Amino acid sequence: MSTRSRAIVSGLLLMLLALATLRMTRRQPLLSPLPPPVEYTWPVMGTFATVTIRGDHADPATFIHQQTLRILDDINSRMSVYRPDSEISRLNRTGGPVPISTPTRTLLHLAREYTQRTDGAFDPTLMPLIHLWGFSGAQPPATIPTDAMISVARQLTGIDKLQVDAATARFLAPGMTIDLGGIAKGFALDQCFDTIIPEYPVDMIFNIGGGIRCHGMAAKNRPWRIGVRHPFIHDRILGVLDIESGMAVATSGNYERFVNIKGQRFAHIISPLTGRPVEGMAGTTVLSPTGAESDTLSTALFVLGIENAGAVLERFPESHALLVPDRQPLEIYVSPGFRRGFSPEPEYAERIRPLP
Ligand code: AMP
Ligand code: MG
Repeated sequence: MSTRSRAIVSGLLLMLLALATLRMTRRQPLLSPLPPPVEYTWPVMGTFATVTIRGDHADPATFIHQQTLRILDDINSRMSVYRPDSEISRLNRTGGPVPISTPTRTLLHLAREYTQRTDGAFDPTLMPLIHLWGFSGAQPPATIPTDAMISVARQLTGIDKLQVDAATARFLAPGMTIDLGGIAKGFALDQCFDTIIPEYPVDMIFNIGGGIRCHGMAAKNRPWRIGVRHPFIHDRILGVLDIESGMAVATSGNYERFVNIKGQRFAHIISPLTGRPVEGMAGTTVLSPTGAESDTLSTALFVLGIENAGAVLERFPESHALLVPDRQPLEIYVSPGFRRGFSPEPEYAERIRPLP
């Protein structure tokens, strides 16, 4: 299966999970039954977007759907690496300087900020390594890349070699490329949220490729909830997470995208320290006040692993995380803020540990 079809399949799985979760919330007893939520789903950014609007507040649903479509299409046309004429594709192709619009500049500045605040665990300049390991849609390499190949690719990485000024962006090393796959979906969630919610403050969830941002409540006195996927068993959840209005959740998992090289399986997140796919982590889920923060932190904490994630997470006092290492038996590490809103499935309650 191609990387893209895999992305679509995993998008579908996430959607099914989201739907299962909504069914789950609907099964709970209600004083006065709500009409079912109104939902629109469509393909975008190599995955799927869904808007879910609470049934009793669904009057502007068509409008919200159309606005979301328009916002995502606008972001895609400026920033998608799948669109050869986007600003990011032109930057990647030519090295710049290329003219960039305000939204693209905002995204590049945000990406740099999160790179700095995660000590480089999140790094959008790793594209040459992502390409080397076969994650950019190209064929996976026939053999495992050698240290020499990794070190050549690493010379083309580094956020300090991406220069962004008021109207242009350029690379300081010829041959550099960037990949916004670890932040674009979260950024897009925030653009939708910040544009639509002030005008239509209805109870709803934006979902882009499994990353979500919620507004309001699922019902009176009942927050929106999502299932946190079990990283080892694809149709199971570890538990459900209550989400306060305005918060975002993103998940990174080693099951989402991977390549096989000589029978060895490698997951799609690259460690900037080694230039190799991260080993030892199965999944991270991050609850944050913005989509961009949850998206970048889910990737960064995946890179940092159980031992180092806590120290970086402390720099983000409003973000909370769950981490599962890739080993048996199952262990679920949670920060205190995540534990508060998390109800594990009964069989996993004893598997919960505090994040060191
Ligand atoms: P996510 O699924 O949100 O964790 O994002 C993973 C995607 O981000 C990958 O598919 C790559 O496109 C890109 N990526 C991989 N490793 C990193 C990294 N260390 N920092 C930033 N982006 C990364
Ligand atoms: Mg992410």
